[in-house]
Amino acid sequence: MKMIYLDNAATTKPSEAAVAAAEKVMREDWGNPSSAHALGTAASRILESSRAAIISSLGIGAKNGRVIFTGSGTEANNTAIFGAVYSKKRPAGASGRGKILTTDSEHPSVEQVMCRLEGDGFSVVRIPTRGGKIDMSVLEAEADSSVIFASFMLANNETGALYDVRRAAETVKAASPRATVHTDAVQAYMKAETSPRKLGVDMISVSAHKIHGPKGVGALWVSEEIIKSKNLIPYLAGGGQERGMRSGTENLPGIAAFGAAAQEAQSEKEERLVHVTKLYAQLERELAERLPEVKLNRPERAVGYVMSLTLPGIKSETMLNFLSERGIYVSAGSACSAHSGKPSSVLQAFGLTEREADSTVRVSFSAENSAEELHLFCDALCDGVASLVRMR
Ligand code: PLP
Repeated sequence: MKMIYLDNAATTKPSEAAVAAAEKVMREDWGNPSSAHALGTAASRILESSRAAIISSLGIGAKNGRVIFTGSGTEANNTAIFGAVYSKKRPAGASGRGKILTTDSEHPSVEQVMCRLEGDGFSVVRIPTRGGKIDMSVLEAEADSSVIFASFMLANNETGALYDVRRAAETVKAASPRATVHTDAVQAYMKAETSPRKLGVDMISVSAHKIHGPKGVGALWVSEEIIKSKNLIPYLAGGGQERGMRSGTENLPGIAAFGAAAQEAQSEKEERLVHVTKLYAQLERELAERLPEVKLNRPERAVGYVMSLTLPGIKSETMLNFLSERGIYVSAGSACSAHSGKPSSVLQAFGLTEREADSTVRVSFSAENSAEELHLFCDALCDGVASLVRMR
């Protein structure tokens, strides 16, 4: 049975170039980048060349800010948020610890950090994102001079919605120039504009395994102003690697593979986007013709890599298992919310009822998928809709 992998928002298959780069480091260039001898210098060169590849892939000049390698996109988000928030001094006379703005549909690696900060006395305001759009009227009302930090995701992992981070960042900075603004660009990376200058943000999180790199390696880009003004406290203390911003010997095989994947993704970005856009349109057309009872949760602006589909009264988990038995891999909501066993709160923030959220599957493409694969997926979905037991 041939596998049809349509869960690329959960993770992507590492590319040949990424695997080769990791293998070379493990076999040949396995020195510690902090060692002063030749083996260490060779490792350090690989580290810096990967860093340059990530900086370039984000659409930034080499002299603009700094890329800090982390152990995941999750760690990049934690580093950005805790590091920035705890660096802020309480203004004289202020009663609370300061206001933080975010959205109601962030990935758990942002949302759970926000919950901890709330427990620590910060006031966190989650701006609604119904229909996949940041509610600007709520944001405008909440953005005031007490805001110390904001984090708005760039693309949503469950719906593919592409948020107007630029406008949100502008609004926050206009109301509170001292506020630091971060974006979680893990799902938007290599799929949408991530240049921090164009987005108007101070920090950006990305992750290797969403762009055909390995799991367990991410990066946080931090602006020069934040570094210079010491507005980021290192999350991990220790030997001072990553110029003191993230201690711990670097995961060099992972980082080398990340660099290789980023270079490849950058050179193929347009081509991949064109292919995936065609796949999205084909599937949308085929579903409308063959399965009109399946509802496409389409945001106004989106990265065309993610398609959220609400099934007619069939639990997403039931459909997921049905498809999995046929070698077709999709996900129920997102891989992360799957741990909680609850219908996705992100889908409910989008506007779905709890019941609809419970019968929604996420199909996510990569440039490696073909038109034929999507056709076969559609066949299997038709069989599933016709044969599976409906929820009461
Ligand atoms: N942010 C978003 C939007 C994600 O989709 C994910 C992973 O799915 C992450 C952060 C976390 O990245 P990682 O899996 O590298 O920890």
